[in-house]
Amino acid sequence: MYCAEDFEIIDFHTHPFLRDTCNWCMYPGAVPDMERFQEDLTAAGISRFAGSVIERVSGAEFAEIHRLNQDALCLKKRLGDKYIPGVHIHPGFVEESCGELFRMHDAGVRLVGELVPYAMDWKHYYDEELRVIYQCIEALGMVVSLHTQEEDSIDRALHAFPGITFVAAHPGEKEVFLRHLERMKRYPNYYLDLSGTGIFRYGSVAYGVKEVGNSRFLFGTDYPICNAGMYVNAVLHEHLEKDDLEAIFSGNAKRLLGL
Ligand SMILES: [Zn+2]
Repeated sequence: MYCAEDFEIIDFHTHPFLRDTCNWCMYPGAVPDMERFQEDLTAAGISRFAGSVIERVSGAEFAEIHRLNQDALCLKKRLGDKYIPGVHIHPGFVEESCGELFRMHDAGVRLVGELVPYAMDWKHYYDEELRVIYQCIEALGMVVSLHTQEEDSIDRALHAFPGITFVAAHPGEKEVFLRHLERMKRYPNYYLDLSGTGIFRYGSVAYGVKEVGNSRFLFGTDYPICNAGMYVNAVLHEHLEKDDLEAIFSGNAKRLLGL
């Protein structure tokens, strides 16, 4: 049995914040500020964390999206290498989104998302507008993190853009998890992060590794919505081999993001 100290742990899926409206912890006071945020992750054995700043926005103006990306850059300046920022795009604003991708890429950002369409007034993962945005993402060699939705538009994106790495978030309940695994078998550019709903179902991570290999899963929590320590221990208790744990906890994230 291994423990957290045996590994470098990168949390691929978090949501840091500078403003209260971007703090998605459901219970007031649990994570009041970024000091507690860092303390909690450090206590869980996590040394670096990735993700986008999220907020419920109307989708009426691109300025709402731009502000979240500015927050991410500001956090990056404050936290240094510990934080791996993710950029937001919006299919309602194609030109602005592409400009934002180039601007953030120039600032060293290599991750798009987590994209959370339900909070940002857009719906599907593939349409004419997104096709243009994906072309920019592919040209820049960026990785896309996206919230799992109960629809199949992602298949069109995976098929049309084999050169983009897409990392879906949240294994989900068994039926959803098995669909993720089937999709991973069909598309080599489809990965899964272990955050949010799912890995409290014991045996799921080991089963996934047996089905598609250890190179396709990234450790993630969805902190501060979820308890980071619980996720570290859930993975440690799955009776995986050391090289599986190394790949999941940090190796895969480092490879995909070029860290
Ligand atoms: Zn999330």
